[in-house]
Formats: sequence, structure tokens, C-alpha cells
Amino acid sequence: MAETLQSLRGMVDLLPEQIALWQHLEAVAREQFRRAGVREIRTPLLEATELFARGIGEATDVVGKEMYSFLDRGERACTLRPEGTASVVRAVIQHSLLGQGPQRLWYGGPMFRYERPQKGRQRQFHQIGLELLGIGEARADVEAIAIAWDLLEALGLDELTLELNTLGTGEDRARYRAELVRWLEAHLEELDPDSRNRVHTNPLRVLDSKDAGTQALLAGAPQLGDALSGESHERFSRVRQGLEALEIPFRINPCLVRGLDYYSHTAFEITSTHLGAQATVCGGGRYDGLVEQLGGPATPAVGWALGLERLVLLLAQRQTIPANSPPPDLYVVNRGEAAEAWALALTRNWRLAGLAVELDLSGAAFGKQFKRADRSGAPWAAVIGDSEAAEGVVVLKDLRGEAGEDRRLKPEAVAEVLAGRPQL
Ligand code: ATP
Ligand code: MG
Repeated sequence: MAETLQSLRGMVDLLPEQIALWQHLEAVAREQFRRAGVREIRTPLLEATELFARGIGEATDVVGKEMYSFLDRGERACTLRPEGTASVVRAVIQHSLLGQGPQRLWYGGPMFRYERPQKGRQRQFHQIGLELLGIGEARADVEAIAIAWDLLEALGLDELTLELNTLGTGEDRARYRAELVRWLEAHLEELDPDSRNRVHTNPLRVLDSKDAGTQALLAGAPQLGDALSGESHERFSRVRQGLEALEIPFRINPCLVRGLDYYSHTAFEITSTHLGAQATVCGGGRYDGLVEQLGGPATPAVGWALGLERLVLLLAQRQTIPANSPPPDLYVVNRGEAAEAWALALTRNWRLAGLAVELDLSGAAFGKQFKRADRSGAPWAAVIGDSEAAEGVVVLKDLRGEAGEDRRLKPEAVAEVLAGRPQL
């Protein structure tokens, strides 16, 4: 026998029994975006590597060590998208969408990062994300957060924490960075190795270190909040007030950072205590510098991305998991040469009429087919043997035993009986 093949490490199959949950999640998200006046955009999975190098930054883990990059047959440097924002911004610039006014966009789909797979962390995973482009007001930050919060609530997830911080402006951060680097240099020996490497490449990310020793040490570090201008403080208080007015609870986390220059002001994460080490379900913030950095007109923007695998883990822990894919309306039991040919044609017509119909293709004995009909969950079976085919009728059988006797019907009448309308 040939050797069996496995999916690549960190690449996960979603099997039919899991799909109901995913479709539910996608349907809820779609509906929330519709209500919020957010339109969908779909961009290619494959982009020029340079887009992410410029759009996410060489100093990040994502670009530095997690990307799936290769040369295509035309020697172009390509990368499977590790996130959605850079692609959306590229598309918005390429098609001059900002000329039509602010853009309220969402995207969804697979992302690729070469990471160590573990619970809630895969190499191919799925995100849904929102980008509000062209609106600089603090109100837009509040609205973006509210859309994420309401989406999670609509899914029945309530034990979540919104963590909030502000990164101020580029100038605020430049001032702070210099101060932080001086402090980190003085404590170099006490930092974990990862953080030590970041002191000069991406010092703000040190604040985000997962190392407990480094975290304890940082309690004594200078605070970004103290380096903010009056105006940045003012803006942050508008965001906080906006969230309070909407009764969205939050916790200020001064260590929440995004280590890139085009990020500014609001940064946030939504976390859960039920996810173990991979606690962040949603991450986002304001990125006023990115559109310009990718060659577009200076444009304020705010957005977020939600990790669907982590959402699914949370939903699977709850009782409110949606039922599996709905059963068919009708199961077609058929046997005999003429019956089988006719059943195929009838099935197609019933489907054209809007019914969900499962056709038994086994050719097995009627008894076996009836067992399968029961297992399918269908409320009705249409039974067709050669004598029915010759007569041009089907036997409609109520599998839940509610409507009494079997009935011999013209196939045209089946849809009406199933719809509960009186039979002609
Ligand atoms: P983490 O710190 O968990 O690596 P991140 O900061 O790299 O997260 P973002 O780039 O902000 O994550 O992506 C947004 C969301 O996408 C995350 O909060 C998470 O829910 C999800 N996510 C990110 N990477 C993965 C992955 N490898 N597998 C599954 N979900 C992921
Ligand atoms: Mg990551």
C-alpha cells in the first residue's frame, strides 16, 4: 500500500462536523458588519514580500521569523499573507478607494505564520478583521472597539477583558524610546535574551515580553504614559469616556504596545482567561502612519483582527454550540434499474424546487437504505421501487411517525406536503 500523507505541521483540516460552528461564527460576523455599515473586501493570499516588510516592519517577529516567503517561477519575492491590514491598505491605495471618502472595510480568511504550533496557535489560521480608514477622531477608535465587543457578545462570549493603552504620537514615542533604551541598557544583564536583542531593534516590544523576570523588572522602568504630550492625554481620555458612555468595560494596561512607528494612540486587546497561554482573541489599534508608509496619501486609520481558532475554542467550551449542519428535508430511498434512473432525475427537480434532498446511491436492500434514512435525520423519505417508477408515483414516508400512513403521490405533490400545504 502507498504511504499515507499528512497535512503539513500547523496546517489544520476543518472537518464537516466542525463546520456548523465556523459557519455560525462567520454568519454572526457578517451580520454585525452589515449592521455597522462595514463592507467586505477580499485580497489575494499571496503578496509581494516587500508589502509586509514595509507594512509590518522588519524588526517584528512576524516579518523577521514567521513569514512563508519564496521566489516564484518569475523570481519574484512572494509571501503568503501573515495578516490582513497591509493587503487591505495596499488595495485601498491601488484602487484609489480613499478618493470616495472614508472606507469601512472588513476581511476574513486564512493567514500564514511559521510559528511553533500549540493550542490556539497554528501555521495556517483564520482571522476576521476590521479597518476604518480616513477617520482620525477618537470616536472612530471607540466605534471600532464597540464593533468587536458587540460581535463577541453576539456570539455569547461575555467573560472577556478589554485591555487598553495609548502609544501617543510618533514624537511622544521617540522621546520615550530614548529614555527607555537608556534604562534598558542599564539593566541589560537582567533582561531575558529575547528582550536583550530587542533593546536596539524594537525597544518598545520589550514592554510586551512574556518573560516573568523581565516583567517584574519593568515595574521600575520609565512609563510611556509620562512621556505623552497634553494633547495625546486629552485624546486618550476622549477614547476612555467614549467607552464608558457605551458601557464597555476596560482595563488600562500600560505594557500593551505595538512596536511599530506607524502605530499611534489607541492600542487594545481583548483577552480571555479560558485560553491558557494564547489568551488574546482580538488585537488592534490606530495606525495613522501606515497608508503613507505604503505610498498612499496621509490617512488616519484604526482597525483590529480577531483570531477565529481562539474564538472557536471559546465557543466550544460553552453550551450554546449550534447544532450540526441541518439534516436534509427528504431522503430518497431507491432500488431497481428504472427506479434508480428516475430517482436521480426526481432528486434534481426537488432540489431545483428548493428542497434539501439526499439521494441514496448505495443500491443496497431497502431495509439498509431505511436505516440510513433514519440516521440522516431527514423527517421524510421518498421511496421509489421499479413499480413506483412504472406508475409514476413515489411513496412518501413520515420518518418521525407523525403523519400516519404512507402516501403514494405524484412527485410534484411532494414539495407541497413537505411545506405543510394541503395536497391537491
Ligand atoms: P500572539 O501574541 O498571540 O502571537 P499577535 O500579536 O501575533 O498574537 P496579531 O498579529 O495581533 O497577533 O493577530 C490578531 C489575532 O490573531 C491574535 O489576537 C490571535 O487571536 C490571532 N492569531 C495570531 N497568530 C495566530 C496563530 N499563529 N494561530 C492562531 N491565531 C493567531
Ligand atoms: Mg504572534
